Amino acid sequence: MLETEALRKVYKKQVAVDDVSLYLKQGESVGLLGPNGAGKSTFISMIATLMKPTSGIVTWNGQDVIKNPNIIRPTLGVVPQEIALYKELSAYENVKFFGKIYRLKGKQLEQRIQEVLKLVGLEDRQKELVKNYSGGMQRRINIAVALLHNPDIIIMDEPTVGIDPQSRHYILEMVKTLNEEQGMTVLYTSHYMEEVERLCDRIYIMDHGKVIATGTKDELTSILSSEETIHLETDQSSITFEEALKEQSSVLKVTEWEKGLKLIVPKNSRKLADIFQLAEQQQISINSVNIEVPSLEDVFLHLTGRRLRD
Ligand code: ADP
Ligand code: MG
Repeated sequence: MLETEALRKVYKKQVAVDDVSLYLKQGESVGLLGPNGAGKSTFISMIATLMKPTSGIVTWNGQDVIKNPNIIRPTLGVVPQEIALYKELSAYENVKFFGKIYRLKGKQLEQRIQEVLKLVGLEDRQKELVKNYSGGMQRRINIAVALLHNPDIIIMDEPTVGIDPQSRHYILEMVKTLNEEQGMTVLYTSHYMEEVERLCDRIYIMDHGKVIATGTKDELTSILSSEETIHLETDQSSITFEEALKEQSSVLKVTEWEKGLKLIVPKNSRKLADIFQLAEQQQISINSVNIEVPSLEDVFLHLTGRRLRD
């Protein structure tokens, strides 16, 4: 349906998107997961035809989108990362304004406005000025605007950043409904792995402009199927203990988490006895040990040596 091939954007000094190839099949929900600065927004701007790529190809059902942006615009709804609304107008007036840009008119426009406001759960508050809305409500109006022309694909750029938990929950549920019940194709970008895990059939993990891994959640975590993660909860932090762990040949990676240390070790390596012995030598008391199957966060850590939220 929608496909990019070696899509690239170079700003003056920096490669923001580095030859990204990605596809969306009809009805799929696809996640683009990456930390801030990974190049997600730049990538989206190019497929939404808001920005010209430096090189590479975007096709829609085989047709060149860069040459003919008009073939994709009617089928695409884009929710930008920054809220783009007129704060002094009411929610209703905002949606109506954008509806006119989409060339909707009269009864059809009115009907559509009410449908999308209902979808985002703000039908009852449509008369209020957008400036009096919470950030989450403003975001929902932005989503309503993107859905107005009934697109086949909705692209959302980090729609839950900086909003209240209630709106966040609402948006996540809505994305699921749009995809599963209405068959809308979704491209969802986020730096929260749990959102992408929950919503998306397939995931692209992006870092420094490049796609570093892609697949279903299970395929991605199977990269680490020979490894497991041990969470150690300790009373105090100790650099020497951390260093000693790193020197163990069967400890592949050591990172800090809120309550202690996180180790990645080969599966079934039975390292726990050694770890406890080391802790005792360093006079560190371990309060709890928790062994987990890997998450997407661990996959990212494994591939980049960094945490997703750094
Ligand atoms: P993300 O959305 O994943 O956080 P962006 O696409 O916003 O990433 O940015 C990717 C990289 O490109 C960043 O390093 C950012 O600083 C840089 N960048 C983004 N927009 C511009 C711009 N208009 N001019 C120069 N550099 C930019
Ligand atoms: Mg962004």
